[in-house]
Amino acid sequence: MAYYLGIDIGGTNTRLLTMNDELVFVLRENVPTASWSTTTDPLASLATLISAHFEKLDERPRGVMLGLPGTLSRDRKKVFSLPFIQALDNREVANELSQLIDCPVAMDKDVNHLHYWDLHQLDSMPTVGVGLYLGTGMGNSIWINDDFYHGAHGSSGEIGHIPWLNNTLECPCGKSGCAETLTSGSFLARWAKTHVQAPHTIGDVFTHYGDHPEIQEFITRLGMIIASEMNILDPEHLFLGGGVIGMPDFPKEQLEREIRKHLRGPQPAEGLVITYSLQTGDTGCQGACLAAKRVFE
Ligand SMILES: [Zn+2]
Repeated sequence: MAYYLGIDIGGTNTRLLTMNDELVFVLRENVPTASWSTTTDPLASLATLISAHFEKLDERPRGVMLGLPGTLSRDRKKVFSLPFIQALDNREVANELSQLIDCPVAMDKDVNHLHYWDLHQLDSMPTVGVGLYLGTGMGNSIWINDDFYHGAHGSSGEIGHIPWLNNTLECPCGKSGCAETLTSGSFLARWAKTHVQAPHTIGDVFTHYGDHPEIQEFITRLGMIIASEMNILDPEHLFLGGGVIGMPDFPKEQLEREIRKHLRGPQPAEGLVITYSLQTGDTGCQGACLAAKRVFE
């Protein structure tokens, strides 16, 4: 029996999940990311966690796939920037970890693993598919001709950082004016602080404040940003997901109308299929397991 280990590294949790070659998940572990990322040698601490996971299996996995919420080099060997674990920036994380655990390691952006899992739920893989996962930021995954599109330098799909007219807000990326500062979970959290009143919470934004002009504009902006990417890439399939789109009473039909309003006809207007991700907390590492099988089988 061959095993594949998928690891999803999030700001809060690190999830390790091992799958066998019959696509059955056999061992699942979840630890706080801070438990290893804040040690003096984060990679060595992560290696210790992985080695302990290996010991619970009757055979070593054929390979490990890491999913990271940061920017990576095109060859997926080097981390360019991982904002919440800066000790890993500009390091050959896959190679270093591989030597520490004595097992092949590959890595990719976490959003590609979410999208890879979602794509496997379709009857057949599209030739061109896009995933848009709206959480704290705007996660974007592009699938073209049986592979993820990484760009010439590894940094494709940074759609949250397209400039937005008359926006002067500073973005965590270091620039100002990025669309994501106005169109993300971070924006909603800021908005909720000044607009949402007790007993309501941020989770009630779409239920109780959905008609507010600024929330209506939020949906309009999101539709325009997504439509722009659809008109550039002309995909067969778009997955929408992430924490914001999963919030109670998120106006999915309104968003779809806003997207379709701007689609070029006859294509991609007629051909584009929009589906919602059935994302759970495990989706990222489930997708990482499938990606590990694809790379190491
Ligand atoms: Zn930015």
